[in-house]
Amino acid sequence: MNGCPGGTGRLTVDLDAVRANFAALAAHVAPAACAAVIKADAYGLGAPFVAEALHRQGCRSFFVAHLSEALAIARVLEPDSDIFVLNGLEPGYEPLCADRGFIPVLNAPEQVEAWRGLAIERGRALPAALQIDTGMSRLGMDLDCAVRLANDATLAEQLSLRLLMTHLACADLPDHPANADQLARFAAVRSLFPAVPASIANSAGAVLGGGYHFDLVRAGLALFGTVSTGTTASPLPAVRLDARIIQIRTIEPGDGVGYGLAHIASTPQRLATLGIGYADGWPRSLSGRGAAWFKGVRLPIVGRVSMDCMTVDISALPEGALGHGDFVELIGPSQSAVDVADDAGTIDHEILARLGTRFQRLFIESGVTDIQSPGGL
Ligand SMILES: *Cc1c(COP(=O)(O)O)cnc(C)c1O
Repeated sequence: MNGCPGGTGRLTVDLDAVRANFAALAAHVAPAACAAVIKADAYGLGAPFVAEALHRQGCRSFFVAHLSEALAIARVLEPDSDIFVLNGLEPGYEPLCADRGFIPVLNAPEQVEAWRGLAIERGRALPAALQIDTGMSRLGMDLDCAVRLANDATLAEQLSLRLLMTHLACADLPDHPANADQLARFAAVRSLFPAVPASIANSAGAVLGGGYHFDLVRAGLALFGTVSTGTTASPLPAVRLDARIIQIRTIEPGDGVGYGLAHIASTPQRLATLGIGYADGWPRSLSGRGAAWFKGVRLPIVGRVSMDCMTVDISALPEGALGHGDFVELIGPSQSAVDVADDAGTIDHEILARLGTRFQRLFIESGVTDIQSPGGL
């Protein structure tokens, strides 16, 4: 008890583990630098806390998706940090981006022109990253556009190019031929901008080998310990999610459970209702699949996951082992985010990034726990 309502459950973020994962990856990719991708509130974990901890670990380059996310972490970062905005310049917000010193990832010629226009207005070069599409067809400029910019003699007066980047479509499939294709295209573009630092790899890309490290690796998921990054140190899991029990009952054969009565008991069952649902990011596709855990005992999800709660079968535990207000594990030593993703038919990125705002969040670093409660209490 800490005097705060606990929300739907407890999300524990081990910032020591995040820092250790960053340090291991940074050592592995050196002399390239390692940047932290902390978009989507640091994959659902709490971007300001993660950013501050990584800054203490020596990280000075941060990537977010949106300007709003840049503003959220700028509050806690020292001005010695670079904050890159991956989704590009938001029309109308160029002056704000420039005032705050954020580095937009320019993804299209119109964004380059808008940023140059502002630079002319302000009479100084503005910092920018250029993203080149080397084959993913998602974000970035085509190769012709890169050639045009490279040959544009006045570009350097308006843009201080801080990064040339691209993104791999198949980095998680090391044998996929697209990796080498994208690498070759990127190397060709890079030769047009020899003085600009270059970056191609995300977490999975860092494992493809030194040829993919260039000057900067953009690590997201690897910081949170659910992926193997090929470093000598094995990744430390940084996330634990525990759900609170809000009611316990026993049902008899023939009783139905939850919406659609999708589960009908065939034997007596003891059920615990957990105060977490799809509004908290727990996938509805886990209805009747997947589980919670308690001290290594699997507690299968029965019936449908609702918006704010779901039901698990606790019959495998001795009676009285769990009561109202107790916690069971959803992500932790018994079940990783990857396990949850496998049950839900998705990837661990999605499981983490969708974690909602109603959890009590515990950030642990050097033995000190900082508690953030939903509702701001
Ligand atoms: C999200 C993202 C990353 C980080 O990806 P991880 O797989 O989490 O390491 C890197 N670069 C870009 C462009 C991204 O969108």
